[in-house]
Amino acid sequence: MRSMRLEAPRRALVEVRTPDPEPGPGEVLLEVAACGVCRTDLHVADGDLPPVRSPVIPGHEIVGRVLRTGPGARRFRPGDRVGVPWLGWTCGACEACRSGRENLCDRARFTGWHVDGGYADRAVADERYAFPLPAAYGDAEAAPLLCAGLIGYRSWAPVRGAARLGLYGFGAAAHIVAQMARHAGQEVFAFVRPGDREARAFALDLGAAWAGGSDEAPPRPLDAAILFAPVGALVPAALRQVAKGGTVVCAGIHMSDIPTFPYALLWGERTVRSVANLTRRDGDDFLALAPRVPVRTEVVTYPLSRANEALADLRLGRLRGAAVLVP
Ligand SMILES: [Zn+2]
Ligand SMILES: [Zn+2]
Repeated sequence: MRSMRLEAPRRALVEVRTPDPEPGPGEVLLEVAACGVCRTDLHVADGDLPPVRSPVIPGHEIVGRVLRTGPGARRFRPGDRVGVPWLGWTCGACEACRSGRENLCDRARFTGWHVDGGYADRAVADERYAFPLPAAYGDAEAAPLLCAGLIGYRSWAPVRGAARLGLYGFGAAAHIVAQMARHAGQEVFAFVRPGDREARAFALDLGAAWAGGSDEAPPRPLDAAILFAPVGALVPAALRQVAKGGTVVCAGIHMSDIPTFPYALLWGERTVRSVANLTRRDGDDFLALAPRVPVRTEVVTYPLSRANEALADLRLGRLRGAAVLVP
């Protein structure tokens, strides 16, 4: 197999050829058709998330076809198209797992961090955590559903009843959430990097009622905001724009420090919360909803060998939509 592998944090990925992995009990071996590039991959590459496996193949938005099944794996058959998300395995026994919150399992293993991911032409996954994918999506178009879509969905679920929803950072996740929000009748306000006219135009194309810089005030106060940009200073900035009783959701796995802010910004029963990982239930719910909206994903494809370029473009905000690697 061929992969783009991270040998150590803060180094460029290198292309390597290794023997195909063997699917273990309950696992499937996939021929990778596409793999999305997510901001979390940058956090793995930069060492913001401490290395747990080194070297490691990043990538947790895998679309692939089953080549072979391991012992006891019966859920899929060779040729089936499946999606592999960030949540790769959970213990099934802890309190979180037993109460429908497997996203909070302390022993969870994540794709592209604890186990090798999809920046490759082959990948192995535990079949219980993979999803059948809606047929309406091509391989590259389906890839961003698996994290931008899934984590976007989980961040949006607690604030789907808010009439006016702010989205900070208009990348892969926000472009999917904006479509679900519009479908649910919410008014969307997009906050982009000050001066980023392309991102503003992109948000307006997707039905945002208003788009402006993250340092600007929307025309009306928000009922809720979701932060996709990993910038701690946006927490008080968003609180400032949220009405009494409103919620600010932090969707990223890593964020720079949040500066101190006056209590008055939180007063009035405002809530700040994070959202962590996903459950398989989120995946089933979101993948059923996406084709009904219908969510359309805008993707920029790169050959697998140009993974470093895709990561650099993501880092610099040079993308409209989601980057996807194609082997
Ligand atoms: Zn991700
Ligand atoms: Zn557990």
